[in-house]
Amino acid sequence: MDLFRSYLHQQRLPLTRQREVIAMALFESGEQLSVDDLADLLRERGEHVGKATIYRTLSLLVQAELAGELNFGEGFKRYELQAGEARHDHLICTSCGRVTRFVQPAVDELQAQIAAELGYTVQGRRLEIFGLCRECQAALRQPRSGGDASAAEEAAGVEIGEEGG
Ligand SMILES: [Zn+2]
Repeated sequence: MDLFRSYLHQQRLPLTRQREVIAMALFESGEQLSVDDLADLLRERGEHVGKATIYRTLSLLVQAELAGELNFGEGFKRYELQAGEARHDHLICTSCGRVTRFVQPAVDELQAQIAAELGYTVQGRRLEIFGLCRECQAALRQPRSGGDASAAEEAAGVEIGEEGG
């Protein structure tokens, strides 16, 4: 909730009571909830919050990277708390625009070390590494037989997926 408050503060938005109860309901449930699920849950608690407000608050939580948006092909989206997920960083190809997410615990360790040395408590991180992806590098090179991927490159991080399209 502190992270949500600081995100809203950055965006110059207040943490209203409605935003707070919606975020708390999602965080406490630990489940993948739709807007309708959250509306029902809040109604049971005697909180009267409109679906439009729930939807807008969930969008803010997604933008703050505190919630993940899931589409299981049900015709509506579900949302879940994301704070338990491993931190990830991004590699961005400057040629084709591909965004690759990766997890590298050494970055977390380094972050903790830097924060401790400089007396900070960490609230978030944005690490974006720019470069050329394998495909774009290959497109620039003349095709040669027997290209060998280096082992060091494979071990550089745990690739967990791509964003966008
Ligand atoms: Zn590329």
